[in-house]
Amino acid sequence: MTLVCDPVRGRSFRARPIVATDEPAATRSSLRAGGNVNYRSGSGLCLFVFSIFIIVAVAFSFVAARPARAQNPPPGPIKISVDATQAPQRILHAKLEIPTRPGPLTLYYPKWMPADHSPDGPIPNLAGLKFSAGGKEIAWHQDLVDMYAFNLDIPDGVTTLDASLDFLISAPGPTIDFSASGSAKLFILMWNQVVLYPKGWPAHDLTFHPAVTLPQGWKFNTSLPVASQSGNSVTFLPVPLDLLIDSPVQSGQFVRVYPLNPGAKPSHEVDVVSDDAWAIDISPELIEHYNRLVAEAGALYRSHHYRDYHFLLTLSDNVLPLGQEHHESSDDRVAENTLVDPNGRILEAGLFPHEFSHSWNGQYRRPEGLATADFQQPMKGELLWVYEGLTEYLGTVLTARSGLLTPQQSRDYIAYTASTMEHRVGRRWRSLQNTANAAQILYFSPPEWASYRRSVDFYPEAVLIWLDVDTTIRKLTNDQRSMDDFCHAFYAPPDGEPIIKTYTFDDLVATLNQVAPYDWRTFLRERLDSTAAAAPLGGINGSGWKLVYNDASNEYLAAGEAESGGGDFTASIGLRVKGDGTVVDSIPGMPAFESGVSPFLKIVGVNGRQFAVEDLRRAIADSKSGTGTIEILTMNTGTLEKHEIKYQAGSRFPHLQRVEATADYLGEILKPLTPVSVH
Ligand SMILES: [Zn+2]
Repeated sequence: MTLVCDPVRGRSFRARPIVATDEPAATRSSLRAGGNVNYRSGSGLCLFVFSIFIIVAVAFSFVAARPARAQNPPPGPIKISVDATQAPQRILHAKLEIPTRPGPLTLYYPKWMPADHSPDGPIPNLAGLKFSAGGKEIAWHQDLVDMYAFNLDIPDGVTTLDASLDFLISAPGPTIDFSASGSAKLFILMWNQVVLYPKGWPAHDLTFHPAVTLPQGWKFNTSLPVASQSGNSVTFLPVPLDLLIDSPVQSGQFVRVYPLNPGAKPSHEVDVVSDDAWAIDISPELIEHYNRLVAEAGALYRSHHYRDYHFLLTLSDNVLPLGQEHHESSDDRVAENTLVDPNGRILEAGLFPHEFSHSWNGQYRRPEGLATADFQQPMKGELLWVYEGLTEYLGTVLTARSGLLTPQQSRDYIAYTASTMEHRVGRRWRSLQNTANAAQILYFSPPEWASYRRSVDFYPEAVLIWLDVDTTIRKLTNDQRSMDDFCHAFYAPPDGEPIIKTYTFDDLVATLNQVAPYDWRTFLRERLDSTAAAAPLGGINGSGWKLVYNDASNEYLAAGEAESGGGDFTASIGLRVKGDGTVVDSIPGMPAFESGVSPFLKIVGVNGRQFAVEDLRRAIADSKSGTGTIEILTMNTGTLEKHEIKYQAGSRFPHLQRVEATADYLGEILKPLTPVSVH
């Protein structure tokens, strides 16, 4: 997923740079490396396709992971009907008809969301829960240990349990809240928020028959196949639970659909919804970049693991900004003016390429530890530096190849990423591998102290590592092979229906060795497990460029500052500050921290003047000709403090500088694979 909290911008947004959170949901049956689970078949039955050599392994995994009632056939289709007519009033009503039998029954509310890699199912916003059968109410008891489990005792003679529940839609706040999914004019139906399912079977074995009633006059888009529609009521074809949760429904008053590369198969489209009519117009120029994105992804991956693909784009200031990947769609939410704001365009340029790439990397190919049988089993994030990190790298590459960022802007983004990681002093105690292992904690950690605590650095730092892999392959093969060849091998067909094919670290190493024989295990482990002070800059250095700092503006960093109103002085005095002077991060060992400045302090004065970001920026820029001291006044929990920041090096912004007489691998990596039409 991509849902990043940027310390400078001070709000959660898509997985761009630094502190982040992200992803979609779907759990297939129990899988093992090499095993494929076919997502769909017409009746929603599970179809396994796997090599003869792994049948034993898959069968064993089933025995090991199968819940207690697994010997019983799964119940018949569960009907779920969502009444969303009061979505503008921030409440959804759901009714379920669950085939059952007398005796104890446990129903689950989804807890571990695949796109989030975290146990963050929004159960606090579940309300109005009631059960009945034949018109008689049935009592329920929330499990005392597992808050996501509801225990019932089904009376004799009952074959169908009726459940009703409400889901309370919230509003975006300072923390990540997936319940912030609607406004007066639009909403995104995330099925996990309104569903319950019986314990005892893998999610893929449970068939749901979904339906939704929308507010009067609202339109909708989704990758779910529609069975019928009558007025504002829509019924979808039966679908396995994992695919249901993988298929959000976007709806709103102002909706527009933009087919991409019309006529090409499979089809792709951008589905836009916004709070106001003006915002759903996308310029032909931007649509052309999206056309190119689809073409470039096709050339890179050479496969499609979806029947068709929907970019579900929500332009709204009233929902949680995020990017969530799914097999056949992505749930992409950004501020209402993003597409007409030059800074927003730069900052969110990588959103579509990242989430789209997840259809291959994360959805089709998924680390074994993240492919659980249902939504209650814990996930293991040790390979998130591939699931998310490689996606971030490939997304960066596709962003450039599709022209969504210029080569210079892409280099500024990479330089910004490298600089931020170079100033992560927490790498001395926390390895990059640990940031992946601890993802479920770090996604929800605040931006304050990010340099020392570290964050979900397996996104940005993995960009540097995968660039290192790419340039190393090119060197090893005399520029005959690259990560493009890895993608051809790793995401290879079969095309078509969504399936999951799991992998392990060993599988990854084996595929890299197919592309270019090398000691990839050691190569990766050294970079992942390091607690050395230095960031992994080998990829930049090997690409024909080097990371430098000077007083010229970095376009990506400047866009972030302009968007947030804050200041990013990471590479100069080691400080990130909000527009009101509140310190987000102060890097231990750097001038601001050594003068006594820490996160949460509020800067109220700079060199004798009332604080403004511009004044601090100017004081840093002018420090070369100054006294060697920048004086600032802070408010620390009610106490005024003076600090003398010893600094005289002027503005320092990161850039990539070409190293002449070396191969420009980075230039090759960012170059389109497909012809660019000139208009
Ligand atoms: Zn992601």
